[in-house]
Amino acid sequence: MDLSAKLHILADAAKYDAACASSESRRARLPGGLGNAAPGGICHSFTPDGRCVSLLKILLTNYCIYDCAYCINRISSDVPRARFAIEEVVDLTLEFYRRNYIEGLFLSSGIIQSVDYTMEQLIEVARQLRVDHKFCGYIHLKGAPGASRELLVEAGKYADRVSVNIEMSSQGDLDRLAPAKQHRQIEESMSHIRNAALEFGDRSTPGQPKFAPAGQTTQMVIGATPASDTEILAKASDLYRDQKLRRVYFSAFCPIPDSDPELPSRPAPLIREHRLYQADWLMRFYGFDVKELTTPEEQDLPLHRDPKLTWALRNREFFPIDVNQASREALLRIPGFGVRAVDRILRIRKHYRLRESDLAKLRIPLNRARHFVVTADSRPLLLDSRTLAARIAPQPVQLGLFSVPQQELTGQF
Ligand code: SF4
Repeated sequence: MDLSAKLHILADAAKYDAACASSESRRARLPGGLGNAAPGGICHSFTPDGRCVSLLKILLTNYCIYDCAYCINRISSDVPRARFAIEEVVDLTLEFYRRNYIEGLFLSSGIIQSVDYTMEQLIEVARQLRVDHKFCGYIHLKGAPGASRELLVEAGKYADRVSVNIEMSSQGDLDRLAPAKQHRQIEESMSHIRNAALEFGDRSTPGQPKFAPAGQTTQMVIGATPASDTEILAKASDLYRDQKLRRVYFSAFCPIPDSDPELPSRPAPLIREHRLYQADWLMRFYGFDVKELTTPEEQDLPLHRDPKLTWALRNREFFPIDVNQASREALLRIPGFGVRAVDRILRIRKHYRLRESDLAKLRIPLNRARHFVVTADSRPLLLDSRTLAARIAPQPVQLGLFSVPQQELTGQF
């Protein structure tokens, strides 16, 4: 099989992994080296199904000894198979980089022979790029769950980011769909990476990149099982707390040919993925506890409105909030108030009292926010009205262009 045919198969097979955003690495170009993983992240591309990916995003091979029911590359799947030689991936990365097609490599693989053997192959690609070719561009390596501690540590020495996929929010779902995988084992792999980052981070030489400087991430497939958003967010929250993950990615399940009849025949809605990302942001940057985002009666996030507005409508006793007096924590709870807008409000109000028109100048969406705030010249009129939820027009959400949550683009949330 020629190289372009392999590339066609192995780039296509890699598109289902959403955990590929590449920001937060600061690997500078070395003298005589090639490339530079810029602090702001590398350039991104968009797959036909609308996901944001960083090129070159490929699998080393789509052969796999495992049989995860939701995966197109599982052993029982009848798809064309291919495998790159290590040198082919190295040459492709360097060649594409020189041609300015890419600024980094995202490399994953099916499991071949054994978990450790697979990991060794991935590491060798990164080692050759970094050591033999002095490649300073971005590298994201997928960690094979259950790989030995030594190999995961080795991976983090060459890669900007190492990620091990948690796949499902519960062990029960893994047992059903990916019986070879165990949460205990996956989280043990994450712990090895977390501990190595702590250990080697402190010891890094000045001017040299730290151990996996872009941190570790993971991915959960959503919509392949009946797992609720409560369960999914609780798992994400646990992983942020226990494993110090930089990011949890959610990947809406896509039906695959000849799949297990227990799997849904329709794709999970991308809007659900989007709402989970919004809820994830509320936990990480807005001070929300995971238990505030859903209720025992409503265990899934509503799809027609964002989770912060949903929380505000459920907790009206928390409002109205005076934008000229409230704490930063309280301001962050107002629908439509993003982190940047709140920080600007805190600066501006030292000089004068903000009016409603000032919020509009900060590009805060007043159709949502005005019902929850007091300004120098306005008070909410409908806060206690039963019709308030119906009066707030649903926000248009553009899906299919970016997997990046809307608030990452607008700063308004
Ligand atoms: S181990 Fe990875 S590549 Fe193999 S079947 Fe499972 S999800 Fe697919």
